[in-house]
Amino acid sequence: MHSERSDGSPLRFAITEVRIKLTSDPRNKLRAYASVTIADAFVVRDLKIIDGTKGPFVAMPSRKLSDHCQRCQHKNHVRAHFCNQCGSKLDPDRAPRDGRGRSRLHADLAHPINSTTRIELHKAVVRAYFDEIETQQSTGADYRPKDFDDLDVLSESVDAEYLDELAHRQEERERRRREQVGQGEAGTEA
Ligand SMILES: [Zn+2]
Repeated sequence: MHSERSDGSPLRFAITEVRIKLTSDPRNKLRAYASVTIADAFVVRDLKIIDGTKGPFVAMPSRKLSDHCQRCQHKNHVRAHFCNQCGSKLDPDRAPRDGRGRSRLHADLAHPINSTTRIELHKAVVRAYFDEIETQQSTGADYRPKDFDDLDVLSESVDAEYLDELAHRQEERERRRREQVGQGEAGTEA
């Protein structure tokens, strides 16, 4: 575990600001966008707060996986049945699989690599999310959402496929955590 610098001082994941932008439709599973500032120096945007069965959870910024058509090299989503450019038939089963054989259709672009940081990040973002809801409720009609620049034009939706994948990943993590607890060691996450 790399929990300290070479001079022995501890490395800390210092979250110095969390900004929350609530989505407007309360029926939307996607409840909010968040940006997180680390050590007053680095911002990660496009985290999402999703209403899960066990309460809100944080999804990291991600993109859909795609690959190149073998005939024309056009990039298609890994789930596409036909190439968007040349119309070639593609194998709809070619997506990479997780440990339990389920297709992986998305990849996180930035994410914690250990459970301590994951938990710390989750707590900070969810706390900021509830604070923002409280502010919205107490301010009423005068509520002004935080300015997110171009994030404001992102579409307010997450597809069902992605929600499924997030839920599966969560299950996987919990399963691995139980295994690690069984072996008595803290793990590094993929
Ligand atoms: Zn093609």
